[in-house]
Amino acid sequence: MTLDKRNMYRLPWSMNDNAIAWLEVSDICNLACEGCYRQRITGHKTFEQVKEEVLFFKRWRNADNVSIAGGEPLIYPHILDLVALVKQNKMKPVILTNALALTPELLKELKKAGLAGFTIHIDSHQGRPQWRNKTEKETNELRQQCADMIAREKGLFVVFNATVYPSTYHEIPDILRWGQANIDKVHGLVFITYRTATTDTAVALDNTKRAVDFGKLSYVRDHFDEKFVTGPEVAQIIEETCPEYEASAYLGGTLNFDSFKWTAGATVGSRRKVYGSVGKRTMELAQAGHHLFTGTYLAYLSQAKIGRKVFAMAALDKTVGKAWRNYIGDVLRHPGHLFDSVYVQSIGIIQAPDVQPNGQADMCDSCPDMTYYDGKLINSCRMDEYRLFGGFLTVVDKDKISQPEPAIAADPSRN
Ligand code: SF4
Repeated sequence: MTLDKRNMYRLPWSMNDNAIAWLEVSDICNLACEGCYRQRITGHKTFEQVKEEVLFFKRWRNADNVSIAGGEPLIYPHILDLVALVKQNKMKPVILTNALALTPELLKELKKAGLAGFTIHIDSHQGRPQWRNKTEKETNELRQQCADMIAREKGLFVVFNATVYPSTYHEIPDILRWGQANIDKVHGLVFITYRTATTDTAVALDNTKRAVDFGKLSYVRDHFDEKFVTGPEVAQIIEETCPEYEASAYLGGTLNFDSFKWTAGATVGSRRKVYGSVGKRTMELAQAGHHLFTGTYLAYLSQAKIGRKVFAMAALDKTVGKAWRNYIGDVLRHPGHLFDSVYVQSIGIIQAPDVQPNGQADMCDSCPDMTYYDGKLINSCRMDEYRLFGGFLTVVDKDKISQPEPAIAADPSRN
């Protein structure tokens, strides 16, 4: 099925009323993932700095949750105080981590401080000790260890992110099937398409139109000639693996009317079987209802074991109606399945910024991952362009510009 915006709900988020606030506490990390877009320049922020950012988000973002990111937030020395601070400010603290530093003891402390859940980034291109040269299927063992550890602690949600490279695109089904087999422990999966730019074919101009040495950015390569994977292609492979999956919500692009920058869906199933998905009506009701009753839009379901009450939407939402019929058919064939718990598992796809022929990037419309930088809200995926070059770069094919001025070096003193 081709994604069709007419059958999907456009998430209602905006700059000042967004489900997510993205807070980076450090640019230090204990891994060096191939797809990372942050590099070490300034180190850990002080607690005073992050406190100021939390209060900024509270005032300007109206967020349901604060995504505490980095760098690696679990090695940030004030992580427990920060989690407590976010909670005190009535937002859900969510940690985005590679989980390398996660232990049962730290997990307990984080939960005590008020943590709502984790987004754990695991994929096969992170150069993890003991996990080098493994396939995504083999890496599921690590995902399983993390999911089991968090499930044992109880009361925390966990979503697993993976960057999708051209070379690992065909392995998406292995991650998806693993997630579905763990629907009782894994609240969501997110696939993020890899992006890069190359210095052999492109040149970058800063906001004064001077060519800069953009090879300093962590995601720029000397050379890369593989075809990038798009969000709709990821949706297609998910649907081929799991025909019950239907994407039901999206965020488009800032430049292209037909891009799918964020594609969201949620499957309904038990540990044995996926019955179907929620449709756009359920997505709309979840967002509007959450906003009506709590004042904020919703990013993460903190309770996956939603139970059969999800089927109450069948009258309003034909996609849920289909899931309901599958469920009833299954229970009639196997009456024992009536006692299986029913869960909802979100499946998200994020298409990284794509550079257009004019050198500008098509960004996510109403970017949920905007972060605080120098008194402004900026897209976190491009913050290093600000930190190194003072603003967004324009990346153009070398053969499209005649005589670029000589490249100037990055200024690491900007932060
Ligand atoms: S534009 Fe925003 S949401 Fe999209 S990839 Fe960048 S930071 Fe993430």
